Amino acid sequence: MQPENLPVSVSIKKGTYAGSTVALVAGVHGDERVGVMALQALWQTLDITKGTVYAIYGNPDAIAKNVRFIEKNLNRCFVPGITGTSLEEQRAQELMPILDQCDAVLDLHATNSVKTTPFIITEQPSMVLARALDFPIISTGWNDAEGGAVDGYMYGRGKIAVTTELGSVKTPELYLDLAKQSILTFLRFFGCIAGSIPAPKQTPKYVHITRAVLKQTNGLSFTKDFADFEALPEGEVFAKDGDTEYRAGKGECIIFPRPQKEIGGEAFLIGKFTS
Ligand SMILES: [Zn+2]
Repeated sequence: MQPENLPVSVSIKKGTYAGSTVALVAGVHGDERVGVMALQALWQTLDITKGTVYAIYGNPDAIAKNVRFIEKNLNRCFVPGITGTSLEEQRAQELMPILDQCDAVLDLHATNSVKTTPFIITEQPSMVLARALDFPIISTGWNDAEGGAVDGYMYGRGKIAVTTELGSVKTPELYLDLAKQSILTFLRFFGCIAGSIPAPKQTPKYVHITRAVLKQTNGLSFTKDFADFEALPEGEVFAKDGDTEYRAGKGECIIFPRPQKEIGGEAFLIGKFTS
């Protein structure tokens, strides 16, 4: 079913009964295959009984080329009133009116880190859903560190949103089952498909992102090859960038350390373990 006036690569299914309108989003970053694979595998056979479900392939041109983006990071373009003419800014302008119709969004991503673990990005109003998805780490605070993402757009409208980061972009097959399970749990949570949600097996760690640090010089180095969410010893230097030394505060961890990033790009993020 492809109603009129929907941009290519947006599909919609409606259930027999009234209910929530939700969106499954994959491929906002075109090289993050796991979400695209999961959505392709499930969409045709999904039997939506209640509500309305959109399947959105975020950046079709980037998906076709298996690249993160064509001109701009699409996940910084979901800004109300954005007027840019790049491919991604235009795509965000197409997709925001669809998101406006949705009560909730599940956005499927993967990370560029090699040493990583699946984790969730969300905010407090979406925490019951986040917990039901049963991931080892639930993180908050990203929207203040990096605006313009799909989830941030939804929070700004008082809506529910969860982003799942499904392992490394290099190994989508390892996390395909988790991606599919995330889609099914999300749809069951809103009653869109039949089936109950199993009780979570994991006790997640909670991390609040406190800051994003930009690369200043070509002399950026880390004291070790940190994994995402690795705890940093309090008071110790963990990175140097030219003359700047970075020391960890109490209960802090590092996410996305990127020694090879271009100057002005994001060198790393710092999070704080919360309970
Ligand atoms: Zn991504």
